[in-house]
Amino acid sequence: MRWKGRRVSTNVEDRRGGGGVKAGGISIIGLVVAFIAWKFFGVDPQQAYQATQAVTSETTSTAEAPQNLTLEQKEASEFVGTVLADTEDTWTPIFQQLGMTYKPPRLVLFSGVVKSGCGTAQSAMGPFYCPADQKVYIDTSFFKDMRQQMGISGEQNQTELSRQDQAGDFAQAYVIAHEVGHHIQNLLGISGKVQQARAQSSQVEGNQLSVRLELQADCFAGIWANQNQQRTQFLEQGDIAEAMDAAEKIGDDYLQRKATGQVVPDSFTHGTSEQRMQWFELGYTTGDINQCNTFK
Ligand SMILES: [Zn+2]
Repeated sequence: MRWKGRRVSTNVEDRRGGGGVKAGGISIIGLVVAFIAWKFFGVDPQQAYQATQAVTSETTSTAEAPQNLTLEQKEASEFVGTVLADTEDTWTPIFQQLGMTYKPPRLVLFSGVVKSGCGTAQSAMGPFYCPADQKVYIDTSFFKDMRQQMGISGEQNQTELSRQDQAGDFAQAYVIAHEVGHHIQNLLGISGKVQQARAQSSQVEGNQLSVRLELQADCFAGIWANQNQQRTQFLEQGDIAEAMDAAEKIGDDYLQRKATGQVVPDSFTHGTSEQRMQWFELGYTTGDINQCNTFK
């Protein structure tokens, strides 16, 4: 996938690096230090915690503008910013056609733990969209895990080292476009309606609604791939196969089979690999938002 040299979105909030990691307003480092102080030095934990808190809160305030990022981390934020800008340039005209104004989401890069409008989140949960603050949250280490654990290799060329770093870049972009898809659903009022319906339905029905919502976000990601290709010719050979590969490997059935050796369809919340590939492809081949009706 070609991505260098295009506009980089200003809607990226980099909360990686620098300062202590805060969980729910309580500094983990502070707690650990307080515990050690209490256990080994007999210091009142409350006092010790307050003391470390004063130190860490100073360092977290500088975390707004991370300085000691590695080259790899900087490139990751540039990549994410470019893909986010691509989604903005895709959805702005589509919303115009619908007679609406597109308000882009902000994207938060974090490492480890992050406080969102939807509560405290850990990177183990994977990327997510929080409707309450309209932000997409991504720990870029997820991309590394995605490549390693799921075996998503993408374009790999042993003779060219720099290309190896980019392995699976389109699959990563697809994940971002999927999360932005949830933002589109939020703006169009779809997720609100689904949430209402879920409140009145059984667990099984609720999961089915959730699957439809996820598949629609996949279809919206397909729309982005279609529109962005027309606008920037960013696709390279193998990219769509790479997204299909990713869609296959993050399907509920695949993950369940891998985790437990069996598949329980009623507990699906994202859809099967087959479904995810189908809906992404429908969005990609048609580029038509009206085709993404997963609720009919
Ligand atoms: Zn999703």
